[in-house]
Amino acid sequence: MNGPSYSSVELLARLVGFDTTSHKPNVALIHFVEDYLLQHGVASEIVPNAAGTKASLYASIGPQGVPGVALSGHTDVVPVDGQAWTSDPFVLAERDGKLYGRGTADMKGFIACALAAVPKFLARPLTVPIHLAFSYDEEIGCLGVRPMIAEFGTRLTKPRIVFVGEPTSMSVVDSHKGPVRWRIDVRGRAAHSSMAPLGVNAITVAGKLLRELAEIENELKLRPQDPRFDPPYATLQVTKIEGGTATNIVPISCTMQFDVRAIPGVDISAIDRRIRAFAANVCVPEMQKIAPEAGIDIDIVNQVPPYSAGASSEAVALALKLAGQNETHAVSYATEAGLFQVAGSPAVVIGPGDIAQAHTADEWIEKDQLDKCDAFLGRLRDWAEHGSAVR
Ligand SMILES: [Zn+2]
Repeated sequence: MNGPSYSSVELLARLVGFDTTSHKPNVALIHFVEDYLLQHGVASEIVPNAAGTKASLYASIGPQGVPGVALSGHTDVVPVDGQAWTSDPFVLAERDGKLYGRGTADMKGFIACALAAVPKFLARPLTVPIHLAFSYDEEIGCLGVRPMIAEFGTRLTKPRIVFVGEPTSMSVVDSHKGPVRWRIDVRGRAAHSSMAPLGVNAITVAGKLLRELAEIENELKLRPQDPRFDPPYATLQVTKIEGGTATNIVPISCTMQFDVRAIPGVDISAIDRRIRAFAANVCVPEMQKIAPEAGIDIDIVNQVPPYSAGASSEAVALALKLAGQNETHAVSYATEAGLFQVAGSPAVVIGPGDIAQAHTADEWIEKDQLDKCDAFLGRLRDWAEHGSAVR
């Protein structure tokens, strides 16, 4: 079937035109992609959210039901609110060889290149299939990719290798930190502040927890460091705190959130156990002496695993071979690679554009980066046609 052929720049213009900010629906973009693929005779599997407002798309080119190489990208973008843009963020604008628009670097540029390559993939008899795996809600905690991964091996062919096209300036990234976010709710007992001993001050208890978290933060710095990361250790930050009612009331509640950016090898469950044990053994008994209803709830609200491809990764070997490089890099930002890796699909991060442009006003990507990605996917096509040995 001879569907329409577009350049990656033309497709990027179409994709940028859909305002897929994470808190908005992405189905219009997904329908556009589904329709484009259908014009090429490629059927898509859609994995919608419960409300039907968002969806992931999975499609295979080449032999069906065979594990191949997945090209993975998230379709959502970060908000433009409060940012000063020179031109409409949802209209692709070219100035001096740079293409401006929300999502150009992070990461509709990669999706555009993948879609532009579809007719080229179809023009050859591939022995290894190439899958397209486009998700949503990555920017708010890699949420949308999880239900898609859950269908690997059943409705969706589980990929043998995943290329996550986050902006790496087309260099090969084989490890990143894993952000984990906790929320702590301290429930005290309110009292008139002149009668403080009758109450349980939730902010005072939160203060004890803060000191414990500061200790953990220090200990993480003292662990063996990994010089590939900047900073070379796992960080812990209290990022939000809220408590109290009025200046003359013993505060009944205090809520705080903290995040750990773990390097590979850091045991997240050990940190979780430690803070729970401190709350249960040090804080709660004293609180309940005064108020039996007092307590502390601790929840992990989001977790992306730290990602390390490992020295023998077939995904890394293939990415290096196709990119013509011999060196890998580590980054501090998180991607969906950790989730693919944990699910048993070896992943590697490589994509066009510079992460420094991501999330900024006047986000841009160099045209040259799209050309490089187009060429990379051309070499992937050649490899997928002729054989499956990587090394
Ligand atoms: Zn991204």
